[in-house]
Amino acid sequence: MRANSLNLVRTAGRSARPRRIPTKCAIRWSSTGERQWSTPLAKQLTEAITTTGPISVAAYMRQCLTSDSGGYYTRQTTGHDQFGTKGDFITSPEISQIFGELVGIWLYTEWIAQGKSGKVQIMEVGPGRGTLMSDVLRTISSFKPFAKSVGSIYMVEASEQLRKQQAQLLSGTAELTETDIGWSAPCKYIPGCNITWCEDIRFVPKEESATPFILAHEFFDALPIHVFQNVPSSKIPSSSTIVTPTGPIAPKTGPHTLKNHWHELVVAPLPEPDTPSTSSTSTPNPPPEFHLTVSKTPTPHSLYLPQLSSRYKKLEKIDDAIIEISPESLSYVSDFAVRIGGDNPPSSTSSPSAARPTTTYTPTASTKPEPFKKPQPSGAALILDYGPADTIPANTFRGIRSHTTCSPFTSPGLVDLSADVDFLALAESTLNASPGVEVHGPVEQAFFLGTMGIKERAERLLQGAKDEEVKRRLETAWKRLVDRGPTGMGRIYKAMAILPYIEGGKVRRPVGFGGDVVG
Ligand code: SAH
Repeated sequence: MRANSLNLVRTAGRSARPRRIPTKCAIRWSSTGERQWSTPLAKQLTEAITTTGPISVAAYMRQCLTSDSGGYYTRQTTGHDQFGTKGDFITSPEISQIFGELVGIWLYTEWIAQGKSGKVQIMEVGPGRGTLMSDVLRTISSFKPFAKSVGSIYMVEASEQLRKQQAQLLSGTAELTETDIGWSAPCKYIPGCNITWCEDIRFVPKEESATPFILAHEFFDALPIHVFQNVPSSKIPSSSTIVTPTGPIAPKTGPHTLKNHWHELVVAPLPEPDTPSTSSTSTPNPPPEFHLTVSKTPTPHSLYLPQLSSRYKKLEKIDDAIIEISPESLSYVSDFAVRIGGDNPPSSTSSPSAARPTTTYTPTASTKPEPFKKPQPSGAALILDYGPADTIPANTFRGIRSHTTCSPFTSPGLVDLSADVDFLALAESTLNASPGVEVHGPVEQAFFLGTMGIKERAERLLQGAKDEEVKRRLETAWKRLVDRGPTGMGRIYKAMAILPYIEGGKVRRPVGFGGDVVG
């Protein structure tokens, strides 16, 4: 790989914290001179909730992040985007190019370990500015046989503005050609190879003979979650009595019904504060306009999602336990699994899938795709994100601005929203979705990058660096990525890999997860 002593460290990332740093304060917004709102989206959400009732956290999150009318990622930003110190937050690939280089090397080692076969299909979900993919493709382009085997590249991105920014970086143009499934442009790193942008992974073709390599960096934490609380029936207040024309209907109580139930936490508007800000005033901490409340009645999701896994069942005895479940994440990861392992039925009862629980998340029967048969499992997915390694996330839904966590209910569309990733839920869905895959990790980012050789790579680059300031920045950046302090990126970020499971084959740990380079 080429050593590049200049421009080694993304200077934008040096002083920022890992994630989500808005630069602008909210301006109070009013369309009529009556109640003032932080954003037009706040007004729209309140009106919708007033008409139809409180909405799930997932619906709120989806609107705030990717709504056409002012979603955090999909809104038009004026001159600057959400990333870097001039934007809102900073991520690992933006901190140091070594991060993307090591991910590129990881893909290369997998390609070798899997016998260098098939046409490689590279894809990334939620690519942000495109920095990670740029470093990955630049790295891959120096491994000529691997680069030659890359047949197609796909970027799954909801934001039009970010698609254009990614295209500028990866294709040298923001002029994209419209196709049946999205938009495309030639890849500047791999001659003859096209990059296609899609709004959803379902548009990315599944090819039987392709070897898919899938990357997801800080994508799953941005996908909507549902939140449930385990409420004992005895705690449901009498105010939940429903008044009907034929008399009141009280909630059922009594010893036989004293059972805990998962109730969904839903989003409702707050009354207008007594002293609203004026429309021209910037307020550093605008008050929340929404809050969470416990749904007294079951919602479609509360009846179904907490039943998906025995992990949730174990918490049913704990009053007021909270769990967060992201069905969209389960759906995405199941899609990854099928692309790698196919969804052929298991051929023998001795295969590990035969012993697996059958709780795969399938949104509805009508959206279940045709089985995708692969002659031989192949490819890999690498998921890098933050979240606990082995527990179910609870109370992790948050907004992030100005380098700090804030209420997710202020300035909808201007504040980034995220929640911890439930890695074990992803692993469980992966294994349930395909008999042809196995999961490795999650391991801490410090372990993944450490065993991928971040220190050695940084030392080589330091040797080539003449400038003291460049050396200092390089040193700070790589150490930051593997910092194992209580809130360090090396500890809170995790890596998880999905690999092909070959029946009768030997289990092979991948590099970065405790394995060696093989092939
Ligand atoms: N991977 C990048 C960016 C992370 S931010 C990095 O680490 O720097 C999350 C990214 O996911 C953004 O590009 C955002 O626009 C995209 N995104 C969020 N929700 C999405 C969805 N539902 N479908 C597709 N892309 C989405």
